[in-house]
Amino acid sequence: MPSLRRSRRVGLVFNHRYLTHNPGQFLIGYREPYPFAEPVPHPSSARIASRTKHLLDLFGLSDAMLNIEPELIGDGALRQIHTAEYIQRVRDISRNGGDAGTGAPIGAGGERIARLAAGGVVAAVDAVMRGAVHHTYALVRPPGHHAMSDRGMGFCVYNNVAVAARHAQRRYGAARVAILDWDVHHGNGTQDAFVHDPSVLFISIHQEDLFPIGWGSLDQGGDEQGEGYTVNIPLPAGSGNATYAAVMERLVLPILRQYGPDLIIVSAGQDGSAMDPLGRMSLTTAAYRAMTRQVRDLADEICESRLVIAQEGGYSEVYAPYCSAAIGEGLCEGLDGISPVEEPYGPRAESMPATRVIGLDATAAIAAARERHSAHWSV
Ligand SMILES: [Zn+2]
Repeated sequence: MPSLRRSRRVGLVFNHRYLTHNPGQFLIGYREPYPFAEPVPHPSSARIASRTKHLLDLFGLSDAMLNIEPELIGDGALRQIHTAEYIQRVRDISRNGGDAGTGAPIGAGGERIARLAAGGVVAAVDAVMRGAVHHTYALVRPPGHHAMSDRGMGFCVYNNVAVAARHAQRRYGAARVAILDWDVHHGNGTQDAFVHDPSVLFISIHQEDLFPIGWGSLDQGGDEQGEGYTVNIPLPAGSGNATYAAVMERLVLPILRQYGPDLIIVSAGQDGSAMDPLGRMSLTTAAYRAMTRQVRDLADEICESRLVIAQEGGYSEVYAPYCSAAIGEGLCEGLDGISPVEEPYGPRAESMPATRVIGLDATAAIAAARERHSAHWSV
């Protein structure tokens, strides 16, 4: 769609208050027998979001994007996904700080930042549904996709993307919303929110058996009327650019096209990168740029460009910000004044076999996913 190239309007949700979310320190495993282990800064660090914003500025992307202000989300929108008891519990914990569930720490006052994160993705949805922009990148924190209806989990407090999907349906009458979750971990909270619901398609590409254990297998395909609308694509550790490209081409894009959503939301975790301390995949910046282009072009084709990309995980302080900036570049491609996002490791980033080759185990995983999902989709 070349005519869209230069007239494309892209939004950016960011607010410096996101940088004040303080998850404290971190002991991997959270195990009691190691009281004297030396903690490290929490991997869900403000520095990653801060460095991402800095890169968006340096490459001219922030200037090319329309600034969209997040708002504190109210109880009504949160209640579409979360229980009243949980919302009250987060409010209580927020007085002094603590864990909003299992591994979802917030500092004092963190409840308001979590509301601003959910409100940021909702603001992104508002901007695309009203036609103010074609696409929006919501650089929010804390992330959301592990958060269940009644508890926080895995650094996530409120399920930002799930709340925003429901908002699109209630406020704008979106009949079908598609959520593509490419975070290296499984989006269990999002899956759980919509497991019975064919009006929200959930597709997750993730490392198999990583986190949370017991979630994201092929046999979890949606329940009752929702059967077929949960599409899990578990991949073996080590999968790289070539495997993700094949998954997009052979599974994700055909299923999205057949579903025909009114809006696409991406749960974008850049923790599938080769440098990530919490994942074991091998993606480079090129993969994130490529996947962004693919969903962008598909959104242009099938849903009047309505695409929201919401920040989830990504824990390499050096590399995750470049992967996220590559997403921004993918959205803004063709606009004036932007520079190509550099690959910080240069050609060496592409030296892993997984960038070019689909391994035998990944080939088998793709075949198994196609076999499973062919029950509902033409793939
Ligand atoms: Zn993750």
